[in-house]
Amino acid sequence: MANIKTKGIVIRQRDYGEADRMLTIFTEEHGIIKAAAHGARRTRSKQSAASQFLCFGEFMLYRGGGDVANVNSVSPIDSFYPIQEDISKLALGTYFADVLYHILDSANPDAALLRLFLNTLYALAYKNIPLEKIKTVFEWRAMSLGGFMPQLGVCAQCGKANAGARFRIRSGAVLCSQCGSRSDSRLDELMLLIMRYAICADDKKLFSFRAPDEVIKRVSELSERYASYHLEHEFESLRYYKRLQDINGFVKGADGDEKAGQV
Ligand SMILES: [Zn+2]
Repeated sequence: MANIKTKGIVIRQRDYGEADRMLTIFTEEHGIIKAAAHGARRTRSKQSAASQFLCFGEFMLYRGGGDVANVNSVSPIDSFYPIQEDISKLALGTYFADVLYHILDSANPDAALLRLFLNTLYALAYKNIPLEKIKTVFEWRAMSLGGFMPQLGVCAQCGKANAGARFRIRSGAVLCSQCGSRSDSRLDELMLLIMRYAICADDKKLFSFRAPDEVIKRVSELSERYASYHLEHEFESLRYYKRLQDINGFVKGADGDEKAGQV
């Protein structure tokens, strides 16, 4: 039985009882902790805002004998509020949290993954960066930090340098044009460059590169398949995000047609 003081971020929340909330908190020093915030849904509760999804704060927890800790208090540091206000951003944030949840074992602190998650949410909330770019950088980086780093050097089969004509999701390896097969995904030089950048770039420069939207989209399709395959999970939150993107695209397209019609 112990009191725990730790920084952490809420990666899942579930309401239960009359006014209580069950939180899954990704903490700096203790990895994932499940904690009950009693009375958190009462409007006058101090914990109400601080115990919400994606709230990053300093938690005072009490851990008795069981698996679930109790939240004694929370001092919020950042709630990434603009994410809560934008349905596409919130869907993407939910997906990122899901990916983390599947990568992390409980009670396994991972400072690099936590830093990545916070940097990614910061970009999503406060920077004007295309969502697909944030998504694919997060996916490659999180997978690499989580022990699924793809091999993006020489051809995995024949060792030829400057390979990178194909990418094999299963083995996470690049292959040259001779060794790759039709079932492998096509890669071009720029796609490979983006993947390497996402994995190796300095934390602070994670999203500071330029590439055409069309190329980023192809890299992003690859990274989501890679994550899903190796984490052995179909992410419902990703499907939901993609549905929203399709609807956004449709609405934008329909606007364009109307304008063209008026000319
Ligand atoms: Zn080869």
